Amino acid sequence: MLTHFFSTVPTGLSLLATIDPAMNDWAIVGCPYGTFSIAQERRIVAAMNKVVYSCPFVPAEWIAAHGFQPSRIMPHAASDPSAGMCPYAASFVNEVMSIGAADAVVMTTVCDQMRRVAELVYRDCRAPIFLMHVPATWETAAAHRFYVSELERLGRFLERLGGTPPSANALAAVMDEYDSMRAKLRAARGSLTARRYAEALAAFHRDGTVEVDGSAPSEPRSGVPLALVGGPLLAHHLALFDLVEAAGGPIVLDASTSGDRTMPALFDQRRLADDPLLELADAYFGSIPDAFRRPNSELYRWLHNELEQRGVRGIVFQHYTWCDTWHAEAQRMREWAAVPMLILDADDSAVIEGHTVSRIESFLEIFG
Ligand code: SF4
Repeated sequence: MLTHFFSTVPTGLSLLATIDPAMNDWAIVGCPYGTFSIAQERRIVAAMNKVVYSCPFVPAEWIAAHGFQPSRIMPHAASDPSAGMCPYAASFVNEVMSIGAADAVVMTTVCDQMRRVAELVYRDCRAPIFLMHVPATWETAAAHRFYVSELERLGRFLERLGGTPPSANALAAVMDEYDSMRAKLRAARGSLTARRYAEALAAFHRDGTVEVDGSAPSEPRSGVPLALVGGPLLAHHLALFDLVEAAGGPIVLDASTSGDRTMPALFDQRRLADDPLLELADAYFGSIPDAFRRPNSELYRWLHNELEQRGVRGIVFQHYTWCDTWHAEAQRMREWAAVPMLILDADDSAVIEGHTVSRIESFLEIFG
């Protein structure tokens, strides 16, 4: 039987929770000003389809294997973000509130801003919400076990919304399918402009579709090869790829949170057959490098390899105002990088401002 009451969840937020004592579990469902009976929950379930999220540590395969459409969105800039709020986090909230197609929302605890945003979404959004805890530490077996247990908890949330728990074979089949789509995207990378590739990645994350042709030969790009490094992109940031290329520096590595850096590792076929859930957890939690991780040495190891392999000669580093995670990394990365680095502060504007364009052009002049 489900009961509803206010509870302090592990994030420290006071929230209305839906508890299933039989499963010793909790999940946030609906608004704090209303409670749902089991019958009401089932009516919600009946109309449910799309599960919206933004964090790369939420495996699309796990949601899809439960029968839902995973949709990792790239939000459009919010028109009136609150002071002190990260523009990306504010835009995500705005998008979740405005898209009627969000049947459920999954958020994660990767930064304080997202925890705050979860509170707002919970307060104002009518869709069921699940807050997933992603530990910052990753080196211990306990951290991996915790991540797996969070996936299992997410699975139970999806089941309560009408999803079907996948068999090992069914999960492995979905994982194989996503692996193939990612391989197709990677294969097409060399034949696409940086912007087109970023758009293809965004479409894959949003809809699980790949509409690129990887058969075209790679074109050598003229100009100074650059990397884009930093947090997640908003939709209007796609123009950055064109602006930087027009200034003479094609972006050959998208190491933003929306780009290649957050692709999970390729699945190991033997482990996929043995224990697909563990393999899924390893490919995401065990492999994706990010600034919020402690230690975040893997971010630098991954970058070192990629910068070298792709012949990168300069870094465009973008962080949002109010984003402590990436802001703190900017200076450290500048000292670490063996190539020149431009730091851009992305504010709450919905366009790329003229002064940003000027700074990009000046940066490219360094390379003669
Ligand atoms: S950009 Fe930074 S503050 Fe904003 S949601 Fe991402 S990690 Fe959190």
